[in-house]
Amino acid sequence: MSTPGSKTSGLDTRTSEVLYSRAAGLIPGGVNSPVRAMRSIGRDYPIFVERGAGFELIDVDGNRYIDWVCSWGPLILGHAHPDVIAAVTAAAERGTSFGAPTPAETELAIVVADRVGSVEMMRMTSSGTEATMSAVRLARAATGRAAVLKFAGAYHGHVDGLLAEAGSGLATAGSPASPGVTEAQAADTIVIAWNDRAALEAAVERHELAAILAEPLPANMGLVEPEPGFLELLRRTADEHGALLILDEVISGFRVARGGAQELYGVEADLTIMGKVLGGGLPAAAYGGRRDLLSLIAPAGDVYQAGTLSGNPLAVVAGLATLARLDERAYRRLAELTVTLADGLRAAAGDRPVRVASAPGLVTPFFSAEPVRDFAGGTACDLAAYARFARALLDRGIYPPASQFEAWFVSLAHDEAAIERTCEAAAEAFAAALEE
Ligand SMILES: *Cc1c(COP(=O)(O)O)cnc(C)c1O
Repeated sequence: MSTPGSKTSGLDTRTSEVLYSRAAGLIPGGVNSPVRAMRSIGRDYPIFVERGAGFELIDVDGNRYIDWVCSWGPLILGHAHPDVIAAVTAAAERGTSFGAPTPAETELAIVVADRVGSVEMMRMTSSGTEATMSAVRLARAATGRAAVLKFAGAYHGHVDGLLAEAGSGLATAGSPASPGVTEAQAADTIVIAWNDRAALEAAVERHELAAILAEPLPANMGLVEPEPGFLELLRRTADEHGALLILDEVISGFRVARGGAQELYGVEADLTIMGKVLGGGLPAAAYGGRRDLLSLIAPAGDVYQAGTLSGNPLAVVAGLATLARLDERAYRRLAELTVTLADGLRAAAGDRPVRVASAPGLVTPFFSAEPVRDFAGGTACDLAAYARFARALLDRGIYPPASQFEAWFVSLAHDEAAIERTCEAAAEAFAAALEE
């Protein structure tokens, strides 16, 4: 542990450095998903993981960290939960993939439908990206319309057409947000600011929307709650204009409440996108919703969508084992741990310009004097200070998301002692970040 007042304790991570230099020649940026590289917090190389246990990550040099990333959401029970490992091991012994239906897939659909009132049927995929892509295709098929409205700073996976940013004028067609995305693909995506009622109004006047697509509790621009009535407005607007409401609950689903953000805020989607917790740490995602809509999917209907590993038996039992632990008591505990962490980070920040946002199972310390209500507020944060803060935490054995725009993920494996250690380190890290 670091001595009080020291800026860094400088953990020895030289094996990670060596492994990174080997990986970087073979894998773009040395990683299989960009944020893992830790570039946005100014590190030269990421921490390579040896294993995880409960709330801890152990790196290849033997350093132990309190993990607030938890695989970016799936590990709501923490690392290597015995129930999940037992279920996956037993399933693997019976075979890892069949390309044929198994009983557990229906069991999982029953559990999901029981939790999320708006989900009458669902189709599984292996990633949230595929689930969003398929839900958008379904919405276009069902409505006969092309345009989809999304919110700036919301992330729905790396679907071409959704890698779009706001066009030049209010509520105009989007433009590509990545090389390789064509103007035509981005043109059917309308991008407006989160919590912006006037922009929503303008967008539906101008465009025949197939769908309004939203993270009901955005957690990919940091955590930014919907303002009171905003989700209800999305629901009403979709209904009035003949568009579908697609709620992307890949993060919020089975985390913020038993039935996700739809339960927390009392709003129902036409289509819901699920992932992360749904697969309990294995690759699983799904889109679900109204029976009349899902009945359009092949082979029940003619909207094509498929997947070799969709509904994979290992992933399905990992999801079932995870959801089985998530009863009302578990959600009360998760909410309690989250409040303790959020309050502790607020106390650690003191009167520095930091705003800690939180919802059950999710926390974001924004380096901002003002509350953050949309993506513009997120990008206005002191990103360099967040980077210093995150590096200082890593040096103290605390593993935070390597980006101001990613939420901290609380798990049921965390406890008060882990939170106390985190907040002690955070007090030093805030000082290191903001008083240089
Ligand atoms: C992670 C995420 C996705 C994409 O899921 P992948 O499994 O990474 O493809 C989609 N939507 C939201 C809200 C997410 O957080």
